[in-house]
Amino acid sequence: MALIVQKFGGTSVGTVERIEQVAEKVKKFRERGDDIVVVVSAMSGETNRLIELAKQIGDQPVPRELDVMVSTGEQVTIALLAMALIKRGVPAISYTGNQVRILTDSAHNKARILQIDDHKLRTDLKEGRVVVVAGFQGVDEHGNITTLGRGGSDTTGVALAAALKADECQIYTDVDGVYTTDPRVVAKAQRLDKITFEEMLEMASLGSKVLQIRAVEFAGKYNVPLRVLHSFQEGPGTLITIDEEETMEQPIISGIAFNRDEAKLTIRGVPDVPGVAFKILGPISAANIEVDMIVQNIAHDNTTDFTFTVHRNDYQSAQQVLENTSRELGAREVVGDTNIAKVSIVGVGMRSHAGVASQMFEALAKENINIQMISTSEIKVSVVIEEKYLELAVRALHTAFDLDAPARQGD
Ligand code: ASP
Ligand code: MG
Repeated sequence: MALIVQKFGGTSVGTVERIEQVAEKVKKFRERGDDIVVVVSAMSGETNRLIELAKQIGDQPVPRELDVMVSTGEQVTIALLAMALIKRGVPAISYTGNQVRILTDSAHNKARILQIDDHKLRTDLKEGRVVVVAGFQGVDEHGNITTLGRGGSDTTGVALAAALKADECQIYTDVDGVYTTDPRVVAKAQRLDKITFEEMLEMASLGSKVLQIRAVEFAGKYNVPLRVLHSFQEGPGTLITIDEEETMEQPIISGIAFNRDEAKLTIRGVPDVPGVAFKILGPISAANIEVDMIVQNIAHDNTTDFTFTVHRNDYQSAQQVLENTSRELGAREVVGDTNIAKVSIVGVGMRSHAGVASQMFEALAKENINIQMISTSEIKVSVVIEEKYLELAVRALHTAFDLDAPARQGD
């Protein structure tokens, strides 16, 4: 008998019919003898609807009151699911975050979980009830309702699993697992049976949107086995674990992530003297703009070129800041480019294999794709290329690193 935390997202509880389907699913697990804690999101679209309502009062809703309001979305779905379970003869009880006592800090709209009281949950489980907990919400030490930030129900699920030392935290969603890359770009993308927390974090921060990044961090920190599954299709999903041993047998690269969210800025002809990188990036960070990749060229004629990427939303403000800096430093010019894309290969296998980066560059060279910037970490190599080559690059790399699904019969 296992203790499982099951989290269902907004689309999985988007209608009463779907909630009934979820209840059927939970019932099956229960009949197998497992103890189940269910965490649900609000019905899809509901949190947005509530935020819109608040904005009709004023552009910037008071954060505390916004939390009082948006937390109601999840209060509806926990009650409906508990009712659907009870109707099926499955004893169940629903709790808000406050009722469980999911204690958070007081940072409204982006609170962090500090502690979870597992007392009530354990008593209910012992007495044979399925416990249905509202995702996304908690309570601070003064009794104020808080919420955890958009997509926060994943974090609630993982935190409950950690507090209860559950055997597994299952995240049910509208995809059947984590893929080697986006199947919409590469038809031969494959579902991964397993991936490590570290790889998943890289994939998530590089653009794969299956799981909330914070939830993956949390799961890694407390070593909660996490499984991504489809809500309404059978299948093993993808297990995210700490275990590198077994994944070693898999290809060196686990996945290819990409995004079109960045833009590139270059300041040309800056004096090659100490402190220049700081003079360039100091004002950028003072303007609260995050920098991702950075490249500084070898100096020539005592000047150098300095290139970095920022989020496309920050491109214009970054360009203005840089123009000012350029005048102050007496640099030659500032040039920018928004038609770029970042492609990354991710895999813990890189730690024990040499030549992975050059294999990547070879695959891109064969397609005649020019690399503009490169950055690496222990388990990742990222390149910036011209945006129009993005899909070609991802497909070429997917093949080069043996990630293509074997051809099915009839293919
Ligand atoms: N309902 C919240 C949101 O839409 C939390 C969640 O779905 O995880 O952001
Ligand atoms: Mg959601």
